[in-house]
Amino acid sequence: MIYLDTAASYPLLPEVKSTLYRAFEQEFANSASSHLLGELINKKIDDVREKLADSIGAYSSEIIFTSGATESNNIAFKSMLLGGEISPEKKHIITTEIEHKCIFSICEYMKNQGYEITLIKPQKNGLICPNDIKKEIRPDTALVSVMHVNNELGTINPIGEIGDICVEKGVLFHSDAAQSYRKTEIDVDDMNVDIMSFSAHKIGGPKGIGAVYIRDLRHKMLLPVIHGAGQEQGIRGGTVAAPLIVGFGTAIEYFPKYYKNFEEMDYKGLLLKKLECERINFQVNGTEKVLPHCISLSLPEINVSVLLRENEQTICLAQGSACSSKEIEASHVLTSLGLTREQAQSTFRISFPLDLTNENIDTIVTAIKKAAY
Ligand SMILES: *Cc1c(COP(=O)(O)O)cnc(C)c1O
Repeated sequence: MIYLDTAASYPLLPEVKSTLYRAFEQEFANSASSHLLGELINKKIDDVREKLADSIGAYSSEIIFTSGATESNNIAFKSMLLGGEISPEKKHIITTEIEHKCIFSICEYMKNQGYEITLIKPQKNGLICPNDIKKEIRPDTALVSVMHVNNELGTINPIGEIGDICVEKGVLFHSDAAQSYRKTEIDVDDMNVDIMSFSAHKIGGPKGIGAVYIRDLRHKMLLPVIHGAGQEQGIRGGTVAAPLIVGFGTAIEYFPKYYKNFEEMDYKGLLLKKLECERINFQVNGTEKVLPHCISLSLPEINVSVLLRENEQTICLAQGSACSSKEIEASHVLTSLGLTREQAQSTFRISFPLDLTNENIDTIVTAIKKAAY
């Protein structure tokens, strides 16, 4: 099976797998316990906290472990805005039309809490224009939230430029970095980000673990996302998931090495060259500043549903993002780019695994060719 859906989830890295086995066997104590085993595990968790913090230019006291990027995004909106940190007069949020679905769901909740939401359209090339954000900032804007890398296009948004605008205007700035972390540089100070979301399973770590960065967390008043016994600075109750965190740490360490090797192979360039050779008409969606493992392809002369169906035993492909591909409606990201329903229907996302081969590319091109109308 050729797995082409790593933007939805990466397979575990081999190093992560062995870390997890060991951790589940040995790291069973509760990290809040004051005995030797508890303290040892607490130390391991703090080492990962430090490693994550170092990798984004933050302090470890600014990192909270969560169940994943969805929860981190919930904290960015609900805990930050409803906890008393931001003046209750400020009830305006700016985000974009191309965010992960969970952001829209959180925004629906915020609307019910009396917030007004402004959604920014991407440019034709898939990127969010910083000036479009600037124009919408008002005196009552509480939060700007723009994802770093888009999960359907692989496009890298100009987070640093948007951050500069938010600092200048004195508005909190959140970025969902689930797709970008460890694949491209992140520095929370250079980017002027106040809150950032991370997920382990997008970098070969286990599912069910992630983190949120919050600038100057110790001096902030946040609404707990889970009321509990004081874990994670009181914001996220529940016994800390030590084995998953240790596995996350191994992914943080090893993923970039694999990704760099993958990047050097330029499989995306190879795929496009072969499609050209075979005279297969295509259009790439999201054309500037795109990560090497992800591509959104429109193939007007290919019956994409036949392509997916005929190869379901050999190629694992998603038509849109994982969250929307089971629905019949067109991807919100593609329609936001101006694609018609028909164009969106002849589009799919390829996100490459780290162990891809040239033969795999040949198999994909052959399968595409066979599905021509
Ligand atoms: C996968 C993903 C999420 C959700 O992450 P979980 O850890 O599965 O909750 C959020 N945002 C983006 C951009 C993603 O790609």
